[in-house]
Amino acid sequence: MKTAELAKVKEAGIAGGGGAGFPAWKKLERQAEWLIINGAECEPFLQSDQYLMRRQAEELVQGMLAAAQIIGALKKTIAIKRTYVQEEAALKEAIARSGADIAIKLLEPVYPAGDEQVTVHGVTGRIVPPGGLPLDVGCVVISVSTAVAIAQAQKGQPSIARIVTVGGYVKQPQILQAPIGTAVSQLIAAAGGATCATPRVIMGGPMMGRLLETEATAPEAAARQAAAPQVITKTDSGILVLPPNHPLVQSREQSVEHMRKRARSACVQCRVCTDLCPRFVLGHAIEPHKVMRAVAYSDFRRELVAGALLCSECGLCEVFSCPMGLSPRRINIWMKGLLREAKASPCKELKRREAGDVIGVSARRLAIRAGLGRCISARSESCGEVVPRQVVIPLKQHTGAPCVPSVTVGETVQEGQCIGTVPPDALGVPVHASIGGLVTAVNHCITIEREGSS
Ligand code: SF4
Ligand code: SF4
Repeated sequence: MKTAELAKVKEAGIAGGGGAGFPAWKKLERQAEWLIINGAECEPFLQSDQYLMRRQAEELVQGMLAAAQIIGALKKTIAIKRTYVQEEAALKEAIARSGADIAIKLLEPVYPAGDEQVTVHGVTGRIVPPGGLPLDVGCVVISVSTAVAIAQAQKGQPSIARIVTVGGYVKQPQILQAPIGTAVSQLIAAAGGATCATPRVIMGGPMMGRLLETEATAPEAAARQAAAPQVITKTDSGILVLPPNHPLVQSREQSVEHMRKRARSACVQCRVCTDLCPRFVLGHAIEPHKVMRAVAYSDFRRELVAGALLCSECGLCEVFSCPMGLSPRRINIWMKGLLREAKASPCKELKRREAGDVIGVSARRLAIRAGLGRCISARSESCGEVVPRQVVIPLKQHTGAPCVPSVTVGETVQEGQCIGTVPPDALGVPVHASIGGLVTAVNHCITIEREGSS
């Protein structure tokens, strides 16, 4: 274990760039045999990791080597889709220059190839136990952006910016770099603005991203926005702009009660949702068709519904599998909440299925099914830079406890200065000023106005 390198990761405030925001230092705290960089970026339309692999392959490799040293990994693999030809070439070149022993694993171009557990299986053939972690089978998986951030951390640079794909119904879909805390609206404006009336925004990809509220859709949205401002955080890699009547928006707006009623009247128990479920195919005891039947008829016997705890929320059942347009994913999320309140634990049984090793659906078919067939890809060789006059930096952008502010209103801060620290003995990561300027507000966020802006 290399403690100095680990300390640099901790100080840099890196929260896993793959979505959940798990502190990177915590993942690297234990020894593991295998380090895997997850470069599959399987959500349709997201391009941020592919851009990083093409343009910052050298930093990615350096970050991977630092991480591998920290955990004492014997094997190092970068997993990408076999269709990422340019990315593979850039990575091979960077690996050759480093002289390191790093393998590239080409995965099938399907969704969800980048699901952490599917990636572990694709690379190693090992199956993460139900309810377990990759570490249980000797693996640590980190995202492309986390590896790049680890390389920057070794040079003393904190995590203060994100590469974000802006796409969907915007004039010029593109890849942008923005300081943490930049308003989402500013990135959309930088992409030429929305091309539809009353646009809605999904943060992340179409499959797993979260829909932002607006004042028009939720009366209490203004208050909610004040509590959780609509800004870029350490875990954001995509902004998808859609019209309000788009199926991806409408499915996210249905109430649980409405979904339960629809499940009762429309679920034909065809079990396609189960047969295509990536976690079911891996052998986990998850059968969404049973959860649908149980929830529809309020039959909450543990053996019928506990499988919901194993749902990765990948959305394949919702966007692709169900012929009736139902949402086993959202029913599972709802059920998971109830089961966690009841402190239920998932079934640990593992059954090898017959279906073979290819899990998932072609990204192209998925994009068409998701209603994104007409959206132009953001793929680009250049990355625009957004230079905001103001940033609003949340003190909690990660799994764990919120940071404690270490600056006060009226203070001038430098770019990269630590402005929020982790409470003693808590899980978390510090936050840093993403621009230099004057601190104008400190509450659950820290607002900084760039010097010279008015
Ligand atoms: S795919 Fe749809 S209709 Fe078929 S069992 Fe699942 S939820 Fe029911
Ligand atoms: S969202 Fe659906 S397909 Fe994905 S893991 Fe959950 S039940 Fe399976």
